[in-house]
Amino acid sequence: MSWKKLLVVVFLGTLSAIAQNSVADTQGTSKPVSRPKSFDLSAIDKSVNPCEDFYEYACGNWRKKNPIPSDQARWGRFNELAEYNRQILHEILEKAAANDPKRDAVTQKIGDFYASCMDEQTVNSQGSAPLKPLLDRINAVSNKEQLMETIAYMHSIGMSPLFGFRSLPDLHNASVEVANVVQGGLGLPDRDYYLKDDAKSQETRQKYLVHVTNMLKLLGDDPAAADKEAHAIMAIETKLADAAYDRVAMRKPENRDHKMAVKDLAALAPSFQFSRFFAASGAPTFSDVNVIPPDFFQKTNGAIDSISLDDWKVYLRWHAVHAAANGLSEPFVQENFSFYGKFLNGTKELQARWKRCVEMTDRLLGEALGQPYVNQTFGTEGKTRMLKMVNALEQALATDIQELPWMTADTKKQAEIKLKAITNKIGYPDKWRDYSTVKIVRGDLVGDIQRTTTFETHRNWNKIGQALDKKEWGMTPPTVNAYYNPAENDINFPAGILQPPFFDRSEDDAVNFGGIGVVIGHELTHGFDDQGSKFDADGNLRNWWTEADRKEFDQRTGCVADEYSSFVPVDDLHLNGRLTLGENTADNGGARIALMALHNQLATDKKTAQPKDGYTADQRFFLGFAQVWCSNQTDESTRLLIKTDPHSPGRYRVTGTLQNNPDFAKAFGCKSGQKMVSQNACRVW
Ligand SMILES: [Zn+2]
Repeated sequence: MSWKKLLVVVFLGTLSAIAQNSVADTQGTSKPVSRPKSFDLSAIDKSVNPCEDFYEYACGNWRKKNPIPSDQARWGRFNELAEYNRQILHEILEKAAANDPKRDAVTQKIGDFYASCMDEQTVNSQGSAPLKPLLDRINAVSNKEQLMETIAYMHSIGMSPLFGFRSLPDLHNASVEVANVVQGGLGLPDRDYYLKDDAKSQETRQKYLVHVTNMLKLLGDDPAAADKEAHAIMAIETKLADAAYDRVAMRKPENRDHKMAVKDLAALAPSFQFSRFFAASGAPTFSDVNVIPPDFFQKTNGAIDSISLDDWKVYLRWHAVHAAANGLSEPFVQENFSFYGKFLNGTKELQARWKRCVEMTDRLLGEALGQPYVNQTFGTEGKTRMLKMVNALEQALATDIQELPWMTADTKKQAEIKLKAITNKIGYPDKWRDYSTVKIVRGDLVGDIQRTTTFETHRNWNKIGQALDKKEWGMTPPTVNAYYNPAENDINFPAGILQPPFFDRSEDDAVNFGGIGVVIGHELTHGFDDQGSKFDADGNLRNWWTEADRKEFDQRTGCVADEYSSFVPVDDLHLNGRLTLGENTADNGGARIALMALHNQLATDKKTAQPKDGYTADQRFFLGFAQVWCSNQTDESTRLLIKTDPHSPGRYRVTGTLQNNPDFAKAFGCKSGQKMVSQNACRVW
């Protein structure tokens, strides 16, 4: 999960890749995956009272029949669909990899990249040799000036030791991109792991030390030296963690809003030698930079001087091997998996190599691989019906805003302006990314990875000072997810999610409005959640609220935050209602307006309004919604996600949303006093 995404864009669902650089298994086959069903009667557990636990009612039998596969940390409907998509991508890539001289440029790139990745024999025979030029360069660093230049070089090839550097839309003038430097430089998934003293955090640090030691040993360091180095790395990362804001603070746009002249940043944190760093990076020149947050750079400035050059070199060496582990030989892959996959996520075994290679091709050449994927899977009919639903949802949200009891006319007017300005992107980009300058060499996996990541890094840096390109996508076409981007004020639905269980052309509207309808409503509501509500129709950070309405909004979102903070998914760990506030607000608003849109539709469609399979249209809507979230996950993964993920686990996305919803209680005849009827129902939108 890149920090760009953490900072800017809000997703529908949890992303699977939380520092889980995946690993190796030589079997190339697994059993075929069939396309997931949408509305699934056999998933329902009728022994459960829907008014006591609607999640178990809607998903109970599915959860019993679908244990977590050994190569996964979580298994839900999202994963089923992603696995189905991956199978299609696998076939495309196997064909593209056949060394046919008549292949077009796109097929050559994805085919040879995939072939490099699948050539495990070559990868294994090389050990860590492909990393040697970078390690030699780090080794040759003899002063702090060269240290900063080497860090800049590592950034240019897609690694991010010490902090992050990238272009983002200007918070106050979203039509233009600006340079950003961002806190970072950690190997563990969250700052808390370095700072907290509970048993789990201590254990995690212990295991992390062992992991770092093992990786350095694989690079050839002797065991005693590697152990000492790992402690030096831990000391550096702990300093960085201590200076960093936590995830809840980073949600506040105000905390990410510190644009200054480059010379002022240089004065604020002189030891970073920013002018040298920027010049060495190869990024275009610029005069202003947004600093996220200044505290981080100010606080860590002293560490650059006080920590020895040798320790910094050890730290860079670790971040080099950490970032490259995926592309190296099996021992690196296995060691990486044993910490990030097994220990942190509870995954039992490494995914088959082909699965990891498909994923890597999608991640690094997604808009090349996306082209044959879209040709093969995405028709115009789906797009037309989707557009109709988006319009229906936008209308419902407009009515909802109009009828809101707590908002005054002035703010409503502003909200309507923002809603009207929301644009949508469906399926895939109008213009595909041009990879013609990226050289893919069959048999050179580390080189291929470095060249594609270098291409992406410079593509991003070259935007600094340029106009925002609203046509660009932040997700690849096969992705099973969706997002709202506050800077562009747009909602985005990749082709990958426009399938069952979200969207099924053979199902009635009740089910589809519960599935993809709620997803659309969810993304629209992000424009008005705790973060989105602070941006205006043009994507600029600007207050368009009256003071009284903002106070009321804060009170109402506070209700949602408290509600979700009361949920305890594992051990005695509570959800963080402030971290998950935007997503929970979007789930609640999304479900409400999707049902409104369905009711508008049913007024003219008598057939769908009739009960089917023993369920009324409203019941089918709520079942369709809940069944999207049927899932099982390891306790380890739950613990990790409670700390790092702005999304609540599937169970609470369902129960937390529906216990606030009077239409749900009405549809299933639930009464006050039953668990699915909140005594203190929250409502924002
Ligand atoms: Zn979301």
